[in-house]
Amino acid sequence: MSNKKVDVLLVGAGVMSATLGRLLALLDPSRTIMLVEQLSKTAQESSHPLHNAGTGHAGYCELNYTPQKKNGEIEIARALKINADFEQSLQFWAHLVERGDIADPARFINRVAHQSFVAGADDVDFLRRRHAALAAHPLFAEMEYSTRHARLSDWMPLVMAQRGSHEKLAATYVAHGADVDFGALTRKLIHATAKSDAFELHLSHAVTGIKRHADGWHVRIEDAHTGARRTVVARFVFIGAGGAALPLLQKAGVEEARGYGGFPVSGHWLVSRAPHLVQRHASKVYGKAPVGAPPMSVPHLDLRVIGGDKVLLYGPFAGITTKFLKQGSRFDLVASLRGGNLAPMLAVARDNLDLMRYLAAQAMQGFDDRVDALRGFMRDADGKDWQLAPAGKRVQIIKSCAERGGRLEFGTEIVATRDGSLATLLGASPGASTAVSAMLEVLRHAFPQEMKSAAWQRVLHEMIPALGVKLDTHPRELDAVRRHTRRVLRLEPAGQK
Ligand SMILES: Cc1cc2nc3c(=O)[nH]c(=O)nc-3n(C[C@H](O)[C@H](O)[C@H](O)COP(=O)(O)OP(=O)(O)OC[C@H]3O[C@@H](n4cnc5c(N)ncnc54)[C@H](O)[C@@H]3O)c2cc1C
Repeated sequence: MSNKKVDVLLVGAGVMSATLGRLLALLDPSRTIMLVEQLSKTAQESSHPLHNAGTGHAGYCELNYTPQKKNGEIEIARALKINADFEQSLQFWAHLVERGDIADPARFINRVAHQSFVAGADDVDFLRRRHAALAAHPLFAEMEYSTRHARLSDWMPLVMAQRGSHEKLAATYVAHGADVDFGALTRKLIHATAKSDAFELHLSHAVTGIKRHADGWHVRIEDAHTGARRTVVARFVFIGAGGAALPLLQKAGVEEARGYGGFPVSGHWLVSRAPHLVQRHASKVYGKAPVGAPPMSVPHLDLRVIGGDKVLLYGPFAGITTKFLKQGSRFDLVASLRGGNLAPMLAVARDNLDLMRYLAAQAMQGFDDRVDALRGFMRDADGKDWQLAPAGKRVQIIKSCAERGGRLEFGTEIVATRDGSLATLLGASPGASTAVSAMLEVLRHAFPQEMKSAAWQRVLHEMIPALGVKLDTHPRELDAVRRHTRRVLRLEPAGQK
């Protein structure tokens, strides 16, 4: 039997492959796309709503996106970029609602205020300066700042309960933040694409090998139930395998994978569905990461909206793991060691002892310790209102570097072969929120000519009307885009249409 041929093969049914598949199907409906997922359902790893925080990352509340330089200046470039990228996601999602791919936006996105919260004179001063730097920018002009306890109590009554009037506290507040159920979004994207005959979805099928041949990538696929194997030939492969992207990239044997390693971190949340708490917390409140903690361990207390139900999440509590996926193998880390990444990985272990100690201490914590940690945020937290739930795994990027041999990175990076025929996304943050801009970058690698063509440019501008416009320097366009996306996605305050 000859091998099946497709134009595009997407590995993994998380939000990244789902976004890329939808973009491609709209850009060129004639292209054949196959999506292969090893689990029996879509969005069961990091894109599952309870495996991530569902924050529509826009730089409003995440203090780690605005680090302080040695000279005391606050660097806002990363927050500006993430905010602009998130605006692209919002535009694309609004387009999907308008074309009928998504009937009810509230099933995946909801207006939830974004806040940063700090205590102590130094951090209050930091937040004041952060606010001044950001609010001067059109993208962040709506951000409010306050040190007044009465105002803070309006914004976050649960966090302010039992706080003394002498405590030095400050918060910023952006009313138009978003909570996103990336699992529901993934399903809706795939469902919409699956209406086309040019698209095939194979659940319970794992990609076990990828090899370059003259006629394209030969991708070996194994049926999880029967063990039957077959090979599909694809002109373009996107490895959207989340934490398992690195091992598959290594399997593809591409030069571009050399030197990359993965550092997996597991996580847990405290979750509450208690009505007396859920009804009194209407925002996502992000604090500061403890000393030695990785940036993604910033504690936050979030309102989530999942399947129409409101849930509170506190965490994440990080932990040590050797698995790259929740449903991965404990040998993932060891199996990813290669001659080319061993030195960078050892260098990272040597240079990040504080981080290792922090993770070990976090991993040792029991339920009561975690509720105690929550009390640092919410003084009157009661353990009986909360349960521990596992979060997804994040595999941080390790890269070789000349000065130290290797370094640990907390962002995401697209790795593509020089000819653009295979690409993947490594790393975890800012993640799903910026899936649209990340997948547009993948498309620029894979289809450089088509992306410049008049036909694709027309569709791209229908999907993302302000594509190519620097919204941070074009306040009028920014205002128009935001009015539109907020109306279509129903992110306006109640009563405003
Ligand atoms: C604790 C935590 C909190 C987070 N919070 C946020 C947040 O607040 N906001 C935000 O925007 N992002 C957040 N993220 C990041 C976000 O969840 C991820 O960036 C995003 O879900 C990644 O999507 P993905 O499609 O790349 O991977 P995944 O959703 O992990 O999907 C990968 C899929 O590939 C499949 N797969 C793997 N190997 C194979 C194979 N060999 N064959 C077939 N299928 C395979 C897996 O089974 C899985 O279904 C968070 C992540 C974590 C872990």
